[in-house]
This record gives sequence, structure tokens and C-alpha cells, in this order.
Amino acid sequence: DLDHWPKPARQWRPGLTFLPLRGFFQRAFIMNLQLENKTALITGSTKGIGFAIARALAGEGAKVILNGRTAGSVDEAVQKIDNGARGIVADLSGAAGCAAVLEQAGQIDILINNAGIFEPKPFAEIPDADWDRFYQVNVMAAIRLTRGFFPPMLQRNWGRVIFMSSESGIQVPEEMIHYGMTKAAEIALVNGLARLTRGTAVTVNAVLPGPTASEGVTDFVGALAATAKQSPAEFEKEFFRSMRPTSLLQRFASVDEVAHTVTYLCSPLASATNGAAVRVDGGVIRTT
Ligand code: NAD
Repeated sequence: DLDHWPKPARQWRPGLTFLPLRGFFQRAFIMNLQLENKTALITGSTKGIGFAIARALAGEGAKVILNGRTAGSVDEAVQKIDNGARGIVADLSGAAGCAAVLEQAGQIDILINNAGIFEPKPFAEIPDADWDRFYQVNVMAAIRLTRGFFPPMLQRNWGRVIFMSSESGIQVPEEMIHYGMTKAAEIALVNGLARLTRGTAVTVNAVLPGPTASEGVTDFVGALAATAKQSPAEFEKEFFRSMRPTSLLQRFASVDEVAHTVTYLCSPLASATNGAAVRVDGGVIRTT
């Protein structure tokens, strides 16, 4: 009985006040993620999944801090989000870039370790330099930032740290074992760090997207499709049939599909999900 639902905690947006269907909208959007007074830093967020997360968090009223490697891309992303967003230009592949972010961000409530790189390469041809680069960007940057931002969250007794890992951290793809290794390392970090939150309102979780149509992946798929003389749609169908046969979705997830789950996990409502590897993988991972 909808009339007996509890009233929403927040007054509904004034824009809807005059709609005849106001009561319906109030009930339909009754879940308030309570992110209005939170500040969130999302690394690697000028495009792709990171940008979608920033946009979703800002849409819920959070103050977002974007990060990218060039002033141009950061400015553009900040303008697209508006809503009080700000940006930090820093390359996270080394200690100096991470230190710059720690210095410029100030106090944050939510850290999304999203920046990441991927590239298929046969195992025997991956040089030391690539192993090192993948480790620096995908793992070490997240460690450096978490080392700075996580202890104050514990002291203030509220915070969210999310590592954007991947289903590749569990089902390591044979065509990019170095990438899978870094994504597995992120899951291990979450497992350990969550132990440190015992008795606090801080949570540390990993999110495991499956194949997702971010700009990075779309460009990459477009290039592969052109080489195979296929349209991107034909390539996608074939990719899921032959390379990701366990996918139940049988298509790329959208960046928003991933961002919505991340946004929920950032909310105070997600307080009992901690130390988890939350899948948004379209069912690619076969175990339940
Ligand atoms: P993307 O290539 O579209 O975007 C990656 C972002 O990271 C970009 O904004 C890029 O500028 C930034 N970045 C890369 N190197 C950086 C550096 N040195 N310093 C600062 N920023 C840097 O990627 P995406 O597909 O949106 O992936 C985002 C995250 O999600 C990654 O960690 C990736 O491993 C993970 N993920 C993606 C998929 C997928 O299919 N797209 C699947 C599982 C997990």
C-alpha cells in the first residue's frame, strides 16, 4: 500500500511541486542517497566510467573533484558537470602526481580509485617496463591515495573508499595477464583495508565491472572491428560469443550502469556492505 510508505527524508525538489503527479514522483524516487554534504574525489574521471561516476555523484548533490592528466580535459569535464565540481590535473603514474592530488584535494569523504590502464599483449611479450607501468597506475596510485585519505576517514568515523577493480581480477584474461594481476591486487587491498574499519562507519569495497562501453573500450573495439572488417555491432556480438561466452548480458554494460552501483555504495545507505567485491559484470563470472 503506497500510502503507508514512509515520507521521504528530504523535501521534494521544488520543480516538481506543481506537477499533478507529485505524489507518484515522491513515491517513485523515495530512496534518498544522502550524498548532499559529501565530497568525492574520483581519479581518472575526465571520461569513461570515472566521468560517469562523477556525474552520478554530482547529480545526487555530492561535491565532486575530478582528475585527469591535462588541464584541457579536466576543465572540459568540470564544465560538463558544473554543480560545484572542481578538478585536479595530475598524472597518477608516479609518486609526485599522487602527492599533488593529496595536497590539492583537502578533506574528502569518498575516494574512488578509478584511474586505470589496459592493453592486451601475449604474456611472453610483456616486458618488465609494462608490468611496472600497470602496477604503478592501477595499484600503486590507489595505494598512495588511500594511504593519505583513509586514516582521516577513520578518525572522522565516516568514509567510503572504492577500488574500481574488474571481473578480470577473478577470471584473469589470458590476453592481458598483467592487467588481471593488478585488478586481483586491488581486491586483495580491499580485503585487508576493510579489516581496519572494524567498528567505524567507514567502508572499503571493490567494484568489479565486466566489459563496459567506456571511451577507452569503445575506441579499442572500434579499432579491432575495423581490422576484422566488421561493424562495431557485429564485433560486439562476436566478442561476447567467442571471448566472453559466460556473459549473461551479451553486450557491453554502459558506463552509467556501473556508475549507479558505485553511487549507491558511496551512500550512507550502503553502510553494511564492507570488504566486498561487488560485481557489475553482466554475469560474466560464473560463480554465484
Ligand atoms: P578509460 O580508458 O575510458 O578511462 C580511464 C581513465 O583513467 C581516463 O580518464 C584516463 O585519463 C585515466 N588515466 C589513465 N592513466 C592515468 C594516469 N596515469 N593518471 C591519471 N589518470 C589516468 O577507462 P574505463 O574503461 O573508464 O576504466 C576505468 C576503470 O574501470 C579502470 O580502472 C578499469 O580497469 C576499470 N574497468 C573497466 C572495464 C571496462 O570494460 N571498461 C571493465 C572492468 C574494469
